[in-house]
Amino acid sequence: MRYLILSAALLAAPALAHDRAADPAEPVSADRLRNDVETMVSFGTRHTLSSLDDPERGIGAALDWGRTEFEEASAACGGCLDVSFVEREMSGRRIPEPVLIRNAIAIQRGSERPNEVVIIQGHIDSRVSDVMNAEADAPGANDNASGSALVLEAARTLSQNDYPTTIVYALLMGEEQGLYGANLLADYAMEQGWTVKAVLNNDVVGGSCGSDGVCDAEHVRVFSEGVRADADEDTRGRMRSLGGSNDSPSRNLSRFLDQLAEGEPTGLDVRQTWRSDRMGRGGDHLPFLDRGFPAVRLSVAIEDYEHQHQDLRTEDGVTYGDTVDEIDFNYLADVTRLNVRAADLLARTPMPPVVQSDGIVRPDVLLEWEPVEGAVRYNIWRRRTDERDWTLRDTLRADPGADLNSIVLAPDRGDDWIFGVSSVAADGAESPVSSAVPGGQFYPLPVDSAE
Ligand SMILES: [Zn+2]
Repeated sequence: MRYLILSAALLAAPALAHDRAADPAEPVSADRLRNDVETMVSFGTRHTLSSLDDPERGIGAALDWGRTEFEEASAACGGCLDVSFVEREMSGRRIPEPVLIRNAIAIQRGSERPNEVVIIQGHIDSRVSDVMNAEADAPGANDNASGSALVLEAARTLSQNDYPTTIVYALLMGEEQGLYGANLLADYAMEQGWTVKAVLNNDVVGGSCGSDGVCDAEHVRVFSEGVRADADEDTRGRMRSLGGSNDSPSRNLSRFLDQLAEGEPTGLDVRQTWRSDRMGRGGDHLPFLDRGFPAVRLSVAIEDYEHQHQDLRTEDGVTYGDTVDEIDFNYLADVTRLNVRAADLLARTPMPPVVQSDGIVRPDVLLEWEPVEGAVRYNIWRRRTDERDWTLRDTLRADPGADLNSIVLAPDRGDDWIFGVSSVAADGAESPVSSAVPGGQFYPLPVDSAE
C-alpha cells in the first residue's frame, strides 16, 4: 500500500484562530509611530533619485536612519535581528541612469523552520507631482512614511517574541519609480530559497479622511488578486474546468486577515477588496505575486488624492501635499496592530497544505494532501461557490506515520462547493486556508496542483 488512508476522525475541539492569551500587539505605540513619520519627513525628500550619500537630506539618509532603528530593535532583543542593506544597481522606466537601489531589511530567524518566511514591508521613497523631481520637498507622510513606520514598529514589537518561522521586515526603495525595491527583494527571496508564506505590503496606511470630507477610521482595505499572476495556460485551463478564479493564495490571505480582524472587536475591520490594487495603479506586493508568492496590499479605507504625489502648495484655498498634519496616528496604530497580530499568527502556523481534490461525476468529494511540517491537525473548510467566507466542515488529526492525508466528504457534491484545508500547529495557530482548486497552493507554480 503506497499510502495510508486516514479515517475522518472528528475531534471535539472547535477550531481556534490562536490560543495565546496576551495580545502580541499590546506594545504598539502611536507616539513612536508619530516620531518615526516626523523623522522621515525631516529628510526633506526621500526620492529614489535623490542623494544616497548626503547624511541629512535624501533617500540615503532615510535608509541609514531606518537601518539604525532596526539595529536598535535588535539590541533590545539580544541581537535577534540580522540587519542589512540588500542592494543592486538598476535602471529603466523613470530611472534613466543606473542608480543603486537599496532596501533596508531585518531578518528575525525562526527557531524550527527558518526557511518559512513572512514579510512585512513598506516603501520608504517619496515623490511630488513630477515623478522625476528629486529636488523638491517630498514629505511623503502618508505615502509612505506611514507604512515604513509601521514596519519599524512591527519589528520592535514582534522581536520581543520567538517564533518557529522567520519574519522579515523591509523598507523598500524605488516604488514610485516602478517597484524596483520590491522586485529586488522578491528576487532575493528566490535566491535565498525562501518559502514565502505571506507578504503584507503596507502602502498609505495613515489617513482616515478623503478630500471630499468622507471619513472612515474603522476599516482598512486589503487588496488581493483573483486569478494568480503566475498561472500559465495549463493552470488557467484547469481553473476554467475545475474552478479557482476566486481562490488564489492572495485571496485566501485576505480572508484570513478578515477573520483575524473580526476576532479582535476593538481593532479595525478589514474591507476585502477583490482586485490586485487600486484601479489602474500598483504597489510593492505585485512583484511577489508575479513570482507566485502570496501577497496582499493594506491601505487606508479612504484615500486623499489632494495629499499624495503633490507639490506642496496652496491653490484656490486648497492645501496640497502629503504632510504630517493629515496623518491619523491612532488609525496608523490600529493598522500596525493588525499587521503585528497577523504576523504573530502567520509566524506560528505551519504552511497551508497543497490539496488535491476529486469530485467529478461522483456523489462525494475526495481531498488528499501530503503532511505539512509542524501540523498536528488539519481543518477542512467549505464555501458555496458564491460565498465570501469559509465554514468549518471537519477536523482531521495528523497521523505522523502517514505519507498522504485523505478524507472523503459526503453527501457533499463537488460541483456545489469550494473546499479548502488549513494546517494547525500544536499551539493552535491555524494557517490560511489553501483551496482545493488549480492554483490554490501557497507555492509558486508549477507545483503539482489540484487535478
Ligand atoms: Zn505608495
